[in-house]
Amino acid sequence: MTRIRILERSVAVRIAAGEVVERPASVVKELVENALDAGARTVTVDVEGAGLRLIRVSDDGGGIAAEDVALAFQRFATSKITRLEDLDSVRSYGFRGEALPSIAAVAHVTLTTRVPDAPVAVRAVVVGGSVQSVEPHGAPPGTTVEVRHLFHTTPARLKFLKSPAREQALIAEAVLNAALAAPHVAFRLAFDGRTPAVWPRTSLADRAAGALGARDAAEVIEVQAALPGGLARGWLQHPQYHRPSRTAQHVFVNGRPVHHATLRRAVEQGFAQLLPVGRFPAFVLFLDVDPALVDVNVHPRKLEVRFRDDGRLFGVVAGAVRRALLTSPLIRQITPGVVPAAPASAAGPLPEPAPVELSPGLPALELAAREAAGAYPRLAEPRLPTLRPVGQVLGTYIVAEGPDGLYLVDQHAAHERVLFERLRAARVRGGVASQVLAMPLPVDVTPGELSLIAGYRDQLAQLGYDVEPFGTGTALLRAVPAVAPDGRCDDLLRRAIAALAGEGTGEDPLDRLAIATACHVAIRAGDRLTHEAMATLLADLAAAEDPYTCFHGRPTIVAVPRAQLERWFLRT
Ligand code: ADP
Ligand code: MG
Repeated sequence: MTRIRILERSVAVRIAAGEVVERPASVVKELVENALDAGARTVTVDVEGAGLRLIRVSDDGGGIAAEDVALAFQRFATSKITRLEDLDSVRSYGFRGEALPSIAAVAHVTLTTRVPDAPVAVRAVVVGGSVQSVEPHGAPPGTTVEVRHLFHTTPARLKFLKSPAREQALIAEAVLNAALAAPHVAFRLAFDGRTPAVWPRTSLADRAAGALGARDAAEVIEVQAALPGGLARGWLQHPQYHRPSRTAQHVFVNGRPVHHATLRRAVEQGFAQLLPVGRFPAFVLFLDVDPALVDVNVHPRKLEVRFRDDGRLFGVVAGAVRRALLTSPLIRQITPGVVPAAPASAAGPLPEPAPVELSPGLPALELAAREAAGAYPRLAEPRLPTLRPVGQVLGTYIVAEGPDGLYLVDQHAAHERVLFERLRAARVRGGVASQVLAMPLPVDVTPGELSLIAGYRDQLAQLGYDVEPFGTGTALLRAVPAVAPDGRCDDLLRRAIAALAGEGTGEDPLDRLAIATACHVAIRAGDRLTHEAMATLLADLAAAEDPYTCFHGRPTIVAVPRAQLERWFLRT
């Protein structure tokens, strides 16, 4: 236990002051953080009336010396730093000495505390910010803070609160964040005396998996990356469990939950094309970095941090997430009790895909360069087991047998993926093979389309198109990518031009062009396939770098494992 001191004024004024008590959840956050700073092994949170009637946080940490209890309620009284330089190495949650006085200013507070070697605890009663009494009290070592009648003297604050249900949700989120940051601590949270939520002591991996809704760490994907001056560790929920919002994204820097748009986008970038448009991945990401390299003091509530080199960080995190995803098995399994989230497009026709958001800090060229440099691994090993085609259903799905059960493959999505990867690989090697048309084909185009053709001649050529303006309303198409089947070449060119105009998935015009080409050229739903065609497609898919999804984020393949078949037929 370190003694509490009042910060020198010169230090105090340099620390960004902030309103720490905005709502009940902020009280919970501050009290739980104090418990963690005190080395608690167990933290118990009881809440009544959405936090307005009572917030009680009990811990079994180091306690406060009886002589210091009154001091703890003075502004800038802290045991955690003394000098300004300490800020650069601060590892505790608190360091401003503001929370207890700020809470006491807007509520009735009692604090009961006992340091381990004291014979008895003391209890302080604080009303209107002033300490009324400090008296001996029977209690085990540790600290319990009770906050009653929050905001009763500041009714204006009450008006800014959301519904009780929403305030409770924010409290639960605050406790979850603390639980994620401190897996070695057990937590318990109860609302209005109901059955509590409990987080037993565990490993970081299991706590993170639990927060993502998985049973344990084996059900999520781990990612690690070395950072300049630190380490990133994260757990990703499988892409099939995507969410409609970003609420299941948790980012921590040196144990503090933070909002950091670049880091979230970096992880999302790693998931690019694995999720349907408009859906978000679930993940927990922890960065441990030299405190001297981050500024935790940017925001008064310490939710925001600044890094010295955001761009580099983005690249490292996005690359590590991508690698982790591409090297783990991502086939959707049909298993009981687990229903994969349906992509937005599952019912009805595919919507026109919206552009994937790329960070402005990561130009497409840089991505391509890193890809070429092998930052995203090319996998020599096939990603799928050997699949034997059995047949085709509804003219759309290939039924196949694998070593451990039944597989269904969407023939269009699978072929799209195979073609896209081929085009991309050929492009990186220097150019896509083209086939010269027997007769140059005149295609009617608008003046806008003509200028796109002129402006993107190089890109078109790289993908195997030979096309040039021909008068004011016509383009002359001389060659198309060799993968294109005969016929419908004018449609293909129109798709390509639309992609260059910005339609479709992808930031890089070359990517968009490749995607549009692959999409147009691929086998369609309804195309009847021979046995050989199916076998070839399955083999090509198995060799793809990412065989699990098409670039619209729809699955290419689902599995029904043997165990599931046996369950269905009651063979177990
Ligand atoms: P800060 O956490 O920024 O130091 P607070 O106002 O939250 O400021 O707390 C003031 C001081 O009271 C802390 O520095 C710490 O010494 C003591 N304290 C508060 N809560 C606890 C607790 N649960 N266990 C032990 N000490 C505590
Ligand atoms: Mg504190």
